[in-house]
Amino acid sequence: MTQRLFLVTNDDGVYAEGIRELALGLVKHGRVVICAPEVEQSGKGHAITVYRPLRATKLDVQEGIEARYMVNGTPADCVKWVLQELELEPDLVVSGINLGANLGTDVRYSGTVSAAFEGAIQGFPAAAVSLCGSREYMDTAAAFGIQVLLDNRIQWTPRTLLNINVPALPMERVQGIRATSLSMRVYEDAFEKRQDPRGRHYFWLAGRPVVVDSQDDQDYHAVSQGFVSVSPLLLDLTDRQALTVLEKLFLQDDQTGRD
Ligand code: MN
Repeated sequence: MTQRLFLVTNDDGVYAEGIRELALGLVKHGRVVICAPEVEQSGKGHAITVYRPLRATKLDVQEGIEARYMVNGTPADCVKWVLQELELEPDLVVSGINLGANLGTDVRYSGTVSAAFEGAIQGFPAAAVSLCGSREYMDTAAAFGIQVLLDNRIQWTPRTLLNINVPALPMERVQGIRATSLSMRVYEDAFEKRQDPRGRHYFWLAGRPVVVDSQDDQDYHAVSQGFVSVSPLLLDLTDRQALTVLEKLFLQDDQTGRD
């Protein structure tokens, strides 16, 4: 039987603790190839590098990992580059383990989740794993993240995309695993305005997340109750309900014979 191939990436950078934990956990269950950004790319979303050349560097590997590359670009660059250059056909593209939550609207900003999106765009099953808090619980995130990734009851189709968030708790205090939808979590007072030594203003993105309209079946609620949250995401952002309304509206125009 051929072994499963895991392509592992992240947005915290190739030397981050989270990607190491993830890769070392997965290596017991299949082949692991790592390709991750040279420096941290948190909050870079789905950015790609178009106007400057990319360079990839092959790094040493340890403990059974098949290959490890770093690219001086974004998480999406890494996934695109490694799939093409090594002609990989991964069974799963996994991004993480991110140090910090990727809940609700975070997925739109997150390099971690965007790397998984890129895997799905390229036609592979993909998942993002994030730890919602302190690095001391990275082992909890690795254990539960990998448990979900390896759950053979899950039907991984070519564009399956799971966003997994693990609460920052000791292993034994995790309450279980919940399937969730994305919450509406936004940031308030996002910029701090300060003055530099020459009296000019500068701005530093800070702010705190505020949950608007929290519901029991959503990711934020699950994690705050001590559950691992698993949200299935779609590449297709089409609002189906609004589409039906618009279709009718424009069809009406046709029928009234306007020109
Ligand atoms: Mn990050």
